[in-house]
Amino acid sequence: MAIRKILTYPEKSLLQPSVKVDTIDENIKRLIIDMGETMFDAPGVGLASPQVGVNKRVIVYDSNAAKPDKDDLIQEFTALINPEIIAASGSIISEKEACLSVVDFSSDVKRYENVTVKALDIEGNQLEFDAQGILAIIMQHEIDHLDGILFIDRVSVLKRTMYKKKIAKIQDNH
Ligand code: ZN
Repeated sequence: MAIRKILTYPEKSLLQPSVKVDTIDENIKRLIIDMGETMFDAPGVGLASPQVGVNKRVIVYDSNAAKPDKDDLIQEFTALINPEIIAASGSIISEKEACLSVVDFSSDVKRYENVTVKALDIEGNQLEFDAQGILAIIMQHEIDHLDGILFIDRVSVLKRTMYKKKIAKIQDNH
């Protein structure tokens, strides 16, 4: 087990689509365990593989993310392989959404309130489940990562441009 480095915008792996996982081999299992550990260390409630520089369709999330007393519970994460949103409905404002790969920025984002997710678990079993509210937001945010989409791509052009300028300025000063 190891904590991996979380890459930040505009790192290339964050901006390109990830490929499907064909075989859940030891490398994928190690990646998943490392991602869980890296997410809790950060700390965050979700992490997608491009954030640690691996463009394979794997996400992890805090299994207790939706529970109000989550800080009192034992940390536990769920991994999804090749996750897909197969149905979505309703609308919700994700307040002050943020991302471990987008430093010093948060914004309200419009998201679906309910999603149905299809994926494989770490053993390769097919899963299908409904998620609402915070869990639905996590699914949309993390699955977006697998398509090279960041939450800053889902805010207003003005906010996105301001953020990109700020990052460009920081990089120029290095
Ligand atoms: Zn993110």
